[in-house]
Amino acid sequence: MDSMHNKVLSLYKNKMSVEDMAFILEISVAAVENYIKDLEEENEFQYCENCGKRMVSIKGKKKKRFCCDKCRNEWWNAHQDQVNKRAYYVKTCACCRRKFLSYGNKNAKYCSHECYIKHRYHRERRHYEKRDY
Ligand SMILES: [Zn+2]
Ligand SMILES: [Zn+2]
Repeated sequence: MDSMHNKVLSLYKNKMSVEDMAFILEISVAAVENYIKDLEEENEFQYCENCGKRMVSIKGKKKKRFCCDKCRNEWWNAHQDQVNKRAYYVKTCACCRRKFLSYGNKNAKYCSHECYIKHRYHRERRHYEKRDY
């Protein structure tokens, strides 16, 4: 990378338009675009997952998903459902054997309180029957 590349990169990071860069660096717009193309090959360009803004991240450095904290917060707020879905577990009810979704509890055994009571009652009755006979 020569010094012109570095100048273009620093202006680019400041979100300056191609036209303004061309004016400041006293080169043509096409030349600026060429420098940017070189820089794209040199660096990894990423897009903010919230606003779609292009971000520059230098190769080898940790990749960023969002351009700023505001965007990160906005994205997480808008995707609460997606985030929460991770806490659902598909379980088989120990009583009725039907599959059910357990929210946030991967050790859940019953699909409903009803099944919980029923299953416990059966178990206890079996227990008592055994003892009685
Ligand atoms: Zn953003
Ligand atoms: Zn059940």
